[in-house]
Amino acid sequence: MTVKTPNAAKPDPRRRLPAVGALCEDPIARPLKARYGAAALTRAVRAVLSEARTRLAADPDAAPTTGALLEAVEARLADGVRETLFPVINATGVVIHTNLGRAPLAPEAVSAAALAAGYANLELDLVTGRRSSRQEHLDPLIAEMTGAEGGLAVNNCAGAVLLGLAALAEGAPVIVSRGELVEIGGGFRVPDVVAQSGSRLIEVGTTNRTHLRDYEMALADHPDARVILRTHPSNFRISGFTSAPSLESLAHFAHAHGLLLVEDLGGGALVDLAPFGLADEPTVQDSLAAGVDLVLFSGDKLLGGPQAGLAAGRRALVERLEAHPLARALRLDKLSTAALAATLRLYRPPCDPFERIPILRLLAQDTATLDARAIALKSQVGGFENLEIEIMETEGYAGGGALPMLPLPGRALALRSLRLSAEALAHQLRTSATPILGRIEQDRVLLEMRTLADEDMPVLASAIAAISQIPLGPEA
Ligand SMILES: *Cc1c(COP(=O)(O)O)cnc(C)c1O
Repeated sequence: MTVKTPNAAKPDPRRRLPAVGALCEDPIARPLKARYGAAALTRAVRAVLSEARTRLAADPDAAPTTGALLEAVEARLADGVRETLFPVINATGVVIHTNLGRAPLAPEAVSAAALAAGYANLELDLVTGRRSSRQEHLDPLIAEMTGAEGGLAVNNCAGAVLLGLAALAEGAPVIVSRGELVEIGGGFRVPDVVAQSGSRLIEVGTTNRTHLRDYEMALADHPDARVILRTHPSNFRISGFTSAPSLESLAHFAHAHGLLLVEDLGGGALVDLAPFGLADEPTVQDSLAAGVDLVLFSGDKLLGGPQAGLAAGRRALVERLEAHPLARALRLDKLSTAALAATLRLYRPPCDPFERIPILRLLAQDTATLDARAIALKSQVGGFENLEIEIMETEGYAGGGALPMLPLPGRALALRSLRLSAEALAHQLRTSATPILGRIEQDRVLLEMRTLADEDMPVLASAIAAISQIPLGPEA
């Protein structure tokens, strides 16, 4: 069909596309309308026509048939009801990977969350029938596992820092060393959080060296200061000519001057990780023993639980946090409350947290275990003529955004396709039925063994086999 237009020698090919209404009313579209609703159908038709117009502008001969357009509409509608969030296989070697949801939960934590998903006694005392606090499920456990007088949990560590400063400094100046004014990633910047808590930040010392006398001078200038904030720089180190007062001496100084010492510890280890090569990661108990008044830490990093921000410290301070209006805005939901309580119970003897908490189990694996896994996987996938596979010794990364300064020895299966670039190979793996995330190094895709579970192995083996069946092209 040709459309005659008086002014243009060549008609705009985009005019050959049907109208939105015509496509929606097409008999083929009728079942789609019944299934997904008129509004969703119209949205999908508009989107498909818009894509077709873009393609036609580039190639005037690419006019699609009505059938092809409606097929695209149907695919789009089917896509819209699919989940967007699903499990992936973490072969990056990064144990605490923020983009992949940080700590995988223990089965006990998963089932506790599932059980709390219906009606649950979240804020009800079953004996008296009266209202209670959701913190009562966590406070005694946090106290027991850290040795603090009391504990509380909110939505995440950033929230715990915000709440801690708002409740304890109450707008008075907060003193922080310049060496600790860090950005943790994902937009958590210490100076911004202090400002948002309603307090004024007083910077002391220099980027690499801060002494007790720097805190003394700041206090002389700002006698109304109430809190010293110490931040664990997690993903950042200055090395060389550096110095900072010990936590003990800072606590001593704070208390001698009527100040509180609050520590943003981030990682939140409750067990000593030094035997596993993570000597730099202080525990919550270490900080409390050094005299810190309130320690703040994440629930989904080294603690191995759900997303949460925990506070542990003196009872009177914890109560001030609980009574602050921000506590309501930052409160933890019932699923995470249940999962966090179940995770904390796995630290109680006779449980061995290194066996029961997935994140600790992954960190504690020795290279012999990783080697065995790599050898088993390599023999399962066998040899393929267009895929080179070898076992590599690597430096694993414990934390990525959370703890990248903690290198652990790793083992990886290195894949090199004779047909695809490393990027294309990584894309294939990422978009396979169960997405597989590896990392690229020197034109190869590395699948790290440390972060894999036993049940991932058959999935990985069949994904690798599928990729190796991509036929060799003429240029290979
Ligand atoms: C990770 C981290 C945070 C942020 O914790 P979230 O639980 O992600 O809010 C804050 N402070 C430090 C020191 C951290 O390492």
